[in-house]
Amino acid sequence: MRKRVLATAVVALAGMFTSLPAGAVVAGQGAPGVGDPYYPDYGNGGYDVAHYDLRLKYQPADDHLEGTATITATATQDLSRFNLDFALTVNEVLVNSRKATFARSGAHELEITPAQPLRRNQPVTIVVRYAGTPSQVSVNGYNPWLRTPDGGVAAGEPEAAWWWFPSNDHPSDKATYDVSVLVPDGTQAISNGTLQSATSRLGWTRYNWRSAKPQATYLTTLAVGKFEIVTDTTESGLPVFSAYSRDLGADEGAAKASVGRAAEILDWQVGVFGPYPFDAIGGYVPNVPTGYALETQTRPFYSPRHFRSGANPYVVVHEQAHQWFGDDVSVKTWRDIWLNEGFARYSEWLWSEKEGEGTAAELAAYTYSFYPADDPFWQVKPGDPGAANQFHAAVYNRGAIALQALRGEVGDQTFFRILKGWPAANKYGNARVEDFVAYAERQSGKSLSNLFRTWLFTAGRPASAPVAANARSAAPTGQIQEPRSWKKIQREGLSDHADH
Ligand SMILES: [Zn+2]
Repeated sequence: MRKRVLATAVVALAGMFTSLPAGAVVAGQGAPGVGDPYYPDYGNGGYDVAHYDLRLKYQPADDHLEGTATITATATQDLSRFNLDFALTVNEVLVNSRKATFARSGAHELEITPAQPLRRNQPVTIVVRYAGTPSQVSVNGYNPWLRTPDGGVAAGEPEAAWWWFPSNDHPSDKATYDVSVLVPDGTQAISNGTLQSATSRLGWTRYNWRSAKPQATYLTTLAVGKFEIVTDTTESGLPVFSAYSRDLGADEGAAKASVGRAAEILDWQVGVFGPYPFDAIGGYVPNVPTGYALETQTRPFYSPRHFRSGANPYVVVHEQAHQWFGDDVSVKTWRDIWLNEGFARYSEWLWSEKEGEGTAAELAAYTYSFYPADDPFWQVKPGDPGAANQFHAAVYNRGAIALQALRGEVGDQTFFRILKGWPAANKYGNARVEDFVAYAERQSGKSLSNLFRTWLFTAGRPASAPVAANARSAAPTGQIQEPRSWKKIQREGLSDHADH
């Protein structure tokens, strides 16, 4: 899939250069990408979205989706034209209540020409009416829409939105959402945030979901199907909403024994990472055949396969850690993926430490010795893995060793202050790997550029495993016992986002 997406980027770049002279920014036209180094045509330039209002109708029987997206945004430059990213069929576009002309270009670009050009800083309301069958729409051979026997699911990274709503599809432009979905009675529509209302009329039920905090497009999810809904409230008053497909079969018990611990795990995470940034939690397990999970905001997506060998709280720990590392503090560009995956993997090591199933230091030492020096694993640089290796095991495992190295260097007290301080300092924002390095240096008063260059930016296995702060030296490699949590974490890790 990474390879297919790379092909997308190349094709789109070629398309971009037929309409734009190479290197030129044409005044008045928004760019067909935000300038992501890995995915040049993802997102768009020239405006900033504040809110998406999606009013949809979905028919599970034939996977037909239709609806209206109302997008409120602000032009960040004068615009005679701008782009959205979208793959379904568009029937009508209005810009500030006037009919706009539109055309397709590139792999997933919708070029919109408003009746009147937009001025810089002008508020703009965009209405897009559309319809389609998401499971039948591929972009360069790829389709992340998950069709289930009783509905469909949108959960993918970095691509998912094109198959169900038009957007500025890049994590650097976060927005709030109202997602309203009409489905046949007896079927549920699950999305992010809080359920504002659900009302039935003439055989159809409308579910109104609200995400009141900034949310990236790829973290916005939709699942339609027949679910068992479990609601609760955490001790601190946070609503818990989880959903399990009624069709999970033998995986049902283990799924509930894992996702059912969401609130308990969250309470522990608040102690380690600081206040929870959102207004709901939970998770959903649809009857999909995939093997990955995704940190969809406030409501992570889990594949039943995670639970085939029994309960696995580690995958819940991982996806919930992303609520701080990925969802609250999001990547500036996709090159910064270590800020998501290195931290989410390290949170599993901390859970293991708490549960007495192996300390983070032991997991780091074991991981270091697990991959021989000549293993291609060590050729992937977590700080800049490349689009093809964005979700490579090295981003997770070597990425987590990097954090253990930091812990060893600055000591536990400073390290845990950094873990809590980073989300607080970047609340609802975006950050680069370099921003974290600078933050850790400020907090510790130490120069850390060598440490991060070694663990994040240099191909090849570093000369030695990180030394624990409270140990005189690293355990000799080769004599390290496999930590009890190792297999459970790898079971999760091999399939995290792992369509990729
Ligand atoms: Zn992850």
